[in-house]
Amino acid sequence: MHLWFTEEQTAGFGITAKIKKTLYHEQTPYQVLDMVETETFGPMLVLDGMVMTTVRDEFVYHEMISHIPLFAHPNPRRVLIIGGGDGGVLREVLRHSVVERAVMVEIDSAVVEVSKAYLPQLSSAFTHPRAEVHILDGFRYLSDIAETRRVSYDVIIVDSTEPVGPAEKLFERGFYQAIFDALSEDGLFVAQTDNPWFKGDLIRRVSRDIAQVFPRAFLYTANIPTYPSGLWTFTIGSKVYDPRTIAPHRVDRAPFLKELRYYHPALQEAAFVLPRFVSALVEGVLENGTTI
Ligand code: SAM
Repeated sequence: MHLWFTEEQTAGFGITAKIKKTLYHEQTPYQVLDMVETETFGPMLVLDGMVMTTVRDEFVYHEMISHIPLFAHPNPRRVLIIGGGDGGVLREVLRHSVVERAVMVEIDSAVVEVSKAYLPQLSSAFTHPRAEVHILDGFRYLSDIAETRRVSYDVIIVDSTEPVGPAEKLFERGFYQAIFDALSEDGLFVAQTDNPWFKGDLIRRVSRDIAQVFPRAFLYTANIPTYPSGLWTFTIGSKVYDPRTIAPHRVDRAPFLKELRYYHPALQEAAFVLPRFVSALVEGVLENGTTI
């Protein structure tokens, strides 16, 4: 008898993975947390029944949500990660020696602790000297720093769960305004913005909200086999820079490029070339939403 984990991605469609064994289960104060060992993708973190990351394909998401905005900024000294409790984004951000401080604000300590225990490949950077980890609601953190004006960030990465539960407010216009206010005068931010096959309405709404807050806004994609539909999107809001261009001298200072397995400097522009049905979702709203 085989055990299978199925994520119901829509009411009528899902993804299923054969399980070797269940490694961990907990009802945290925020979500149901499961860690399972899958036959095809290795250890898999699941929150509220949704695949968050797997050891086999995590590099795609973590490289593409991190290096596209970081290479677009000429001097990303201070980086904020909202969510990201598995540590994968933190690991990628700290590859950039130009980053002086990488602050991660994750609401659920259980995700951090379980990732330390079962995902050592992702959670290696939690103890990095340039890393700072806060267990706090990301929106609350932005409000706190807005009140004290004590810090601003060059790049902000929103690596949150889907717009349900604690992450629901991280997909609203007020949150994007708080992000804008926390960024330096030439800052830019990126958020994971789900898939165009099943969440076209969400992408359309979020694109509109971000484009109303930021002077420049763009969408790019990557292929993530264990995420709904496999075609994943990321939306960038930028105060100044065009993220399709690598800032001068940034690649010279990136000897780690050859260690990466998905991001390539050519993808800095190519990832923003959208399939027609995707650009149609954001046509006239985002800078690269044109279906010529
Ligand atoms: N890559 C995954 C995806 O695209 O769905 C996300 C992975 S990461 C584990 C998502 C994290 O966001 C979770 O650990 C969750 O606890 C955290 N999160 C959700 N809402 C949050 C909030 N309001 N503030 C901070 N972290 C939050």
